[in-house]
Amino acid sequence: MVARFVEALGVRAVDRGAGSCTHRTAGCAGCYVRRQLRQYHDTRACFAAGGKDDREWSDLSPSYFAGLTPQRFRLCTRGEPFSTLSDVGRIASWTEAAPGVIFWIPTRGWRDPQIKAAVERELLPRRNVRILASVDRETAGETDRLLASGWSVMYFDPDNRKPETTGRVVKCRKTWNHGAGITCATCRGGCFASGSPRVVWLRFHGSHGDAEAIRRAADRAAS
Ligand code: SF4
Repeated sequence: MVARFVEALGVRAVDRGAGSCTHRTAGCAGCYVRRQLRQYHDTRACFAAGGKDDREWSDLSPSYFAGLTPQRFRLCTRGEPFSTLSDVGRIASWTEAAPGVIFWIPTRGWRDPQIKAAVERELLPRRNVRILASVDRETAGETDRLLASGWSVMYFDPDNRKPETTGRVVKCRKTWNHGAGITCATCRGGCFASGSPRVVWLRFHGSHGDAEAIRRAADRAAS
């Protein structure tokens, strides 16, 4: 099993199938991956149930990560790392086996109270882990509570509205300077910064159609 190199991010990653997305919000209706799933055979072959992403995820083990050179590594660019409670212990065993690997883990798993508590106990204290609570328009009201419980937050809005928070906000250098060649491999002040929790504010980088789908879904959820 070889993790793929994601050129746009500048790091390697492993992904997971669509069935892992167990903490979806209404805004997930605009997820670009779900659109690609409808449009492209290659995406279906990877991301649909039982596809390549699911198989690769199942194959992962502590020894795989222990064999890597020190690097930044993303779980998952598509799919949910903490789909169920048992994923927390499994991922913790990978991070323990590979102290030189920095695990970058955006997740909506914080929406499940049991998973949130387990992540806080088993993963947040680890030096080689960068976990970000993925927050959107629908869940933005949770931002300050997440920061208070030690989570950093990754936030975007289809209209690029500022995050409403009393916490520290850092603009993502890559998405706010699109085309400048900045990648996540060398970024210092955003997702990979250690220290106090922060909000990493991503500029919306989906298509016009994705933005529309997110707005409509959020409106429906609010009505
Ligand atoms: S803040 Fe840095 S690491 Fe996070 S997405 Fe933006 S460029 Fe990548």
